[in-house]
Amino acid sequence: MNRERLLRGLDALGIAADETAVERFEAFHAILDEYNRKMDLTAVLEEDERVDRHDLDSAAPLAMGLLGQGAKVIDVGTGAGFPGMPLLILRPDLRMTFLDALQKRIAFLQDALARLGLSAETLHARAEDAGRMREHRETYDAALSRAVAGSAVLQELTLPFVRTGGIAVAWKGPGAAEEWQQAKRAAFLLGGALREPVPAPVPGRPEWGHVLLITDKIKNTPGIYPRRAGLPAKKPLGA
Ligand code: SAM
Repeated sequence: MNRERLLRGLDALGIAADETAVERFEAFHAILDEYNRKMDLTAVLEEDERVDRHDLDSAAPLAMGLLGQGAKVIDVGTGAGFPGMPLLILRPDLRMTFLDALQKRIAFLQDALARLGLSAETLHARAEDAGRMREHRETYDAALSRAVAGSAVLQELTLPFVRTGGIAVAWKGPGAAEEWQQAKRAAFLLGGALREPVPAPVPGRPEWGHVLLITDKIKNTPGIYPRRAGLPAKKPLGA
C-alpha cells in the first residue's frame, strides 16, 4: 500500500491517522489481496486507485464530522467492508455493524476483523429483513451505504435502522442530482428529510464528482416499511 498517498489524502480531508491505523490499512489490503486470489470478493484495483476509491472515499463522513464519539453505525450492503472498515480503522470508537446478504463476504469480514484486532458486529441478512428486527430497527445513529442501489431504494434500505435524530448517508456519483427528487419523496414516506447533495470530492480525484446524500431521520418509520425483500428495488418508493 502507498502509505504516503493515504496519509496525504487523509491530511487533505483533515483526518488524523495514527501508526496503528496505517498498519491496519496495510494489513487490510493484504487480507483483501489474499482473499481475492481465491474468490471473487471485490474488483481488483491498482494500488493507488484502491487507496483513493476505497479508503479515502469511505472516510468522507469523518471529514464532515457526521459521526460522533461512540456512534452506533450500520454499513448496509458492505461487500468487502466499504465504507465500514476504513471508518472503523480510523475511528475504533465507532460501534459498527457490517450487514450483507452474502455469507462469503460476512465470513471474510469476520476473519479480517479478528486479524486486525478490531471489534464489530457482523450480520448476514437482507436489509429488508434486518430493518424489521427489533434489535436493529431504529437503534442506529447512522446507516451508511455505498454502491448498493439507487437513491430512492437506499432510503428504504437504510432509514428503518436509524433512530429519530440520526442520519442515513448514501455515497453517490454525479448522477445523484437526477435521482434526488424521487429519493426526497421516498425519504419523506419513511420519516426522513433528504438534504441537498453534499460534495465529497476524493483528494486528487475531483473529476469523480462524488457526493453524499444525507437524510435526517425526523420521525419514526411507518411499520409497513421496509417492504418484503426485493420489493424496494422492484418498485422504488417516491416514483
Ligand atoms: N458497499 C460496498 C462497496 O462500496 O464496495 C459493496 C458494494 S457491492 C456492489 C453491493 C453489496 O450490497 C453486495 O455485497 C450485495 O450482497 C449487497 N446487497 C445488495 N442488496 C442488499 C440487500 N437488500 N440487503 C443486504 N445486502 C445487499
